[in-house]
Amino acid sequence: MTHYHFLLIGQGISGTFLSHYLLKGGSSCLVIDDRREAAPSRTAAGIINPVTGRRIVKTWMIEDLMPFAWDAYTLLGTALGVACISQKNSIDFFPSAQMHNAFYERLAADDQYLSSISNKEIFRPYFNFDFDAGEINPCYLVDLAALLPAYRKFLFQQNSLLEESFDLTQLVVNDRGIRYKDISADTLIFCDGIESSQHPYFNRLPFAPNKGEALLIRAADIPDTHIYKKGINLVPYRQPGSDKGLFWAGSSYEWNFNNADPSDYFRQKTVAQLKEWLKVPFTVEAHLAAVRPATLERRPFIGLHPLLPQIGIFNGMGTKGCSLAPYFGKQFAQDLLNKTGLNHEVSINRFTKILSRNF
Ligand SMILES: Cc1cc2nc3c(=O)[nH]c(=O)nc-3n(C[C@H](O)[C@H](O)[C@H](O)COP(=O)(O)OP(=O)(O)OC[C@H]3O[C@@H](n4cnc5c(N)ncnc54)[C@H](O)[C@@H]3O)c2cc1C
Repeated sequence: MTHYHFLLIGQGISGTFLSHYLLKGGSSCLVIDDRREAAPSRTAAGIINPVTGRRIVKTWMIEDLMPFAWDAYTLLGTALGVACISQKNSIDFFPSAQMHNAFYERLAADDQYLSSISNKEIFRPYFNFDFDAGEINPCYLVDLAALLPAYRKFLFQQNSLLEESFDLTQLVVNDRGIRYKDISADTLIFCDGIESSQHPYFNRLPFAPNKGEALLIRAADIPDTHIYKKGINLVPYRQPGSDKGLFWAGSSYEWNFNNADPSDYFRQKTVAQLKEWLKVPFTVEAHLAAVRPATLERRPFIGLHPLLPQIGIFNGMGTKGCSLAPYFGKQFAQDLLNKTGLNHEVSINRFTKILSRNF
């Protein structure tokens, strides 16, 4: 029997940062992950955008999350020998006169993240646009396709990774912690994305699964200096071994769906949108789909189960795993190791009653 302080299920962006900070804090950690391709962490564009929605408001806690994310990805990337964060401001081509007005109203009220573009004509050779464009500055782009495998390799070299599907029926919870096959641990933390909404420990939390799809397209002529937006995002994307010119185009946000597969409807609609928007030729190289672990009140689920403190959860990152996972990964690791406390908006203490009912 091998004993660990922590057993984590999942090495998406959540399991990556939580295990990173637990290991940094001196604890022993094993991560079990089955590396499923349709995980949101392997589907996401990797954008950290400080503003959101039609009203272009600042996203929750962005002034803390954004600088923290920049430092966290830079440090972890340096340790792993990969460049996994860059600044790519977003050029937003307004799809309507209303969006043009909304942007300039926000800009007049607060120009921290918004600016007008002095020379938008440089984008004319690549894009059709009728209603002007504005810039979101700064936006960051996380290279998940570089970070996740590099961190996985590191875990593997530390004997801290087990590549298999976690089988809940083999889990035994006892007074001293948990046992799983020939592994024991003081604490097990689920970082398994939307899977947590299905198993008995945390299925009462108000998850709101949200399906998202994206196309990977090749459009060699478009500069990879920016993220571009007109209804959908067009994001410079890198795949190990691929040439320049690859872009991620998406995505959809579906609350009602029958399956998690790529759909013809999304593909056709997005290709039509791109044909209207782009002036340059492009080809579709891949079609991705995944279910985001979103939550009804748009805040993560973090903490230990109120009745079974041997079991915890680090989840509910919704549409913003790239900015939330580093910051709250550190906060949760510190709380687990030194009882420093969690932000009450993310702590699952807010669901103690629901989680304790008939358990
Ligand atoms: C189309 C799309 C675009 C997105 N774009 C962005 C973006 O630009 N910026 C942003 O911040 N966020 C974006 N997101 C959201 C982001 O992807 C999620 O918030 C984030 O990836 C969630 O990470 P996670 O690690 O919590 O979960 P997941 O990514 O689901 O990772 C869970 C991990 O657990 C493993 N696992 C699950 N069950 C088991 C099991 N039983 N046994 C072993 N392993 C298991 C899986 O293989 C996976 O590796 C996007 C999501 C989608 C779908």
